[in-house]
Amino acid sequence: MTTPGTTPAAGLINIAPPQVEWPQGDFPTAAHQLLKDSQLRKNVRHATNVINAKRAIVVGEMPDWEHLRDAGSAIKQHTLDHLDQYLLEFEAACTAAGGHVHWAVDAAEANRIAVEIVRRHQVSEVIKIKSMTTEEIELNHALEAAGVHPTETDLAELIIQMGHDKPSHIIVPALHKNRGQVREMFRREMNLPDLGDTPEDLADAARRYLREKFLSVKVAISGANFLIAETGGVCILESEGNGRMCLTLPDVLISVVGLEKVIPRFRDLEVFLQTLPRSSTGERMNPYNSIWTGVRPGDGPQEFHVILLDNGRSAILHDAEAKQTLKCIRCAACQNACPVYRQTGGHAYASVYAGPIGAILTPQLHQTADGRLGDGDSLPYASSLCGACYEVCPVKINIPEVLIHLRRKVVERDQGTISGLFGLWNIGMQTAAAVFESGDRLRLAQRLGRIGQIPFVSKNDFIEHLPLMLSGWTQTRDLAPLPEQSFREWWSERSDRTSHE
Ligand code: SF4
Repeated sequence: MTTPGTTPAAGLINIAPPQVEWPQGDFPTAAHQLLKDSQLRKNVRHATNVINAKRAIVVGEMPDWEHLRDAGSAIKQHTLDHLDQYLLEFEAACTAAGGHVHWAVDAAEANRIAVEIVRRHQVSEVIKIKSMTTEEIELNHALEAAGVHPTETDLAELIIQMGHDKPSHIIVPALHKNRGQVREMFRREMNLPDLGDTPEDLADAARRYLREKFLSVKVAISGANFLIAETGGVCILESEGNGRMCLTLPDVLISVVGLEKVIPRFRDLEVFLQTLPRSSTGERMNPYNSIWTGVRPGDGPQEFHVILLDNGRSAILHDAEAKQTLKCIRCAACQNACPVYRQTGGHAYASVYAGPIGAILTPQLHQTADGRLGDGDSLPYASSLCGACYEVCPVKINIPEVLIHLRRKVVERDQGTISGLFGLWNIGMQTAAAVFESGDRLRLAQRLGRIGQIPFVSKNDFIEHLPLMLSGWTQTRDLAPLPEQSFREWWSERSDRTSHE
């Protein structure tokens, strides 16, 4: 319980928070660092186990689950095929209802538009409801640079903000933190030395802190789950009611939304209102489903803006093999199912979008105009290609297919440079391709391999260490040595024997 007489919202105490050290480097380097953090792995595994078990139950009770996945996939595919038309339809309907639509080509433009609107209202504080899109464009930094303090109102996002941390999961951004860690943070940041450690104590402290913000701050910034072209409506599904407060109490509402969030008709929501909560939090329905359309005198915000964000999405739309990435409804089911994410957590991806969807979305958002992948090009390799992500995706994005497509892009890009062309990996792979193309060459390679492996076979009859660039194969597993006789040799010996009998 909170200490009697202490108001959490009374102010933050002035104790320097512990420094958060984020892993550096590409995915393999960052993952290597994070794998040493056993507490983090325990937290992530526990949380994803709980969500996966809940999801399995509520999905299992839907006899038409596969039909719903097909329907969601078809709606999204149709929308992407006619995205220009539906975005214009949304703009017209939203404007007719009294909203203002802004088009932002990149993060800088979106931030500039949002900051200008906030400045016009001469406020020094805004409240926010969880929005991955505003994380993507780092809007909080832009607001702070303009002297405006943003307060996250989603409980998990508040934990991230108070911990000076970064989100590690799409739906549960503070999934890597356990209750004890959250309690310590609240005690420190909210000046509540006697705070208890039950979920109720923590929720109560956050509720008191946030309620004062809801009632006093005049400008709110939100994301959105869906934009409805037919009506100009904007839709958010959430679990805590903080969104409902942000969407109704302030005078001004700004929604920053990726272009791909549009759906054609109001009735299309029927599909996603069933698949999204089941896939994301294992709930049959979200406790709060809000849809708002324009402004209404005397009811809710009196000024409403939608910032439609491109920021690399058009380039993805033009890549026929990768376009399906934009069907994503950000449920995070692929993250929870992914054996790689479950070991490393989200920070190894160095992206607001972690897990399998991050592995395909992040490098594409950073690609250049000619389709060459930029930052995050190690992410398409952050997968075992087991297909678990594809199996759970409610809109049937074939993530393994896109991962392989992106890996090919990385290889083709590297082959276009001198260092890539003459790099060990390229030479090794070209040699392997030449060997596998010819039966004679494969036979010869097997014979040479049997001789070459002799110094590396241990007493247990395993290869525990390989040298140089091959060392990666034995870093986390032992290899069985090549057998003394290959299957082809056995087969031809056997055929010879039977023909003589
Ligand atoms: S890719 Fe599919 S499973 Fe992953 S977050 Fe997006 S919709 Fe959910």
